[in-house]
Amino acid sequence: MKPVLDMPNPSRLEDWRCLAPGAFAARPFSSAQCQDLLAQIVAGKAFSSVPREQPNSMHNYGMVVNNTELSAQLACLPDTWLATVIPALFPHLPGGRFGDQHAFMVLYGEDAERELALHVDASHITLNICLENDAQGGEINFTGARCARHVNEPPDRTIVSHRFEPGDVLLHVGNQRHHVSPLRGGRRRNLLVWYRLETEVFDHSNSWVQSICATCSA
Ligand SMILES: [Zn+2]
Repeated sequence: MKPVLDMPNPSRLEDWRCLAPGAFAARPFSSAQCQDLLAQIVAGKAFSSVPREQPNSMHNYGMVVNNTELSAQLACLPDTWLATVIPALFPHLPGGRFGDQHAFMVLYGEDAERELALHVDASHITLNICLENDAQGGEINFTGARCARHVNEPPDRTIVSHRFEPGDVLLHVGNQRHHVSPLRGGRRRNLLVWYRLETEVFDHSNSWVQSICATCSA
């Protein structure tokens, strides 16, 4: 049986480019692979059949992954596809297993999400896969890593903006603050996975999170 998510070969460090400290981008998927995954989603194989289930407290439009096969495939990515990349890109991360994950799809469009306010994720590592994007606007903007204490500090001087192409994958620390620019038309659909280390809290109060906080280290 064909897997829900066709993964390319194990990712190599040279496949990733640095967008901002703790935020990296690669393009491992073809647009045909993205269309295939989207087609399965539309067919109801990969996601909750509830079309507008709230995937988390920040998003009102999207779907939570509830397909056991896709959930299992996404859960094992840190130990397979990303096994050599995660420790190399995020050397501050303590060892241990990513024992918890939350996977969901978000939809930006005229009748869906129009923008997203500045926030950090409830994750240690976030994987963000663009499946579709013909939007004007809707870029993701990174404003620097922050610990729990400094999450509302003013933005860094340099704000890094990224326009998604279908097949793009971003991998970033959960405490890298980001927001999404207002959409002016079109739509964008992204599949997100929040990975959490099973032995660590994910409220960004850990000392290793403080070590990469731009305010703590200023
Ligand atoms: Zn701090």
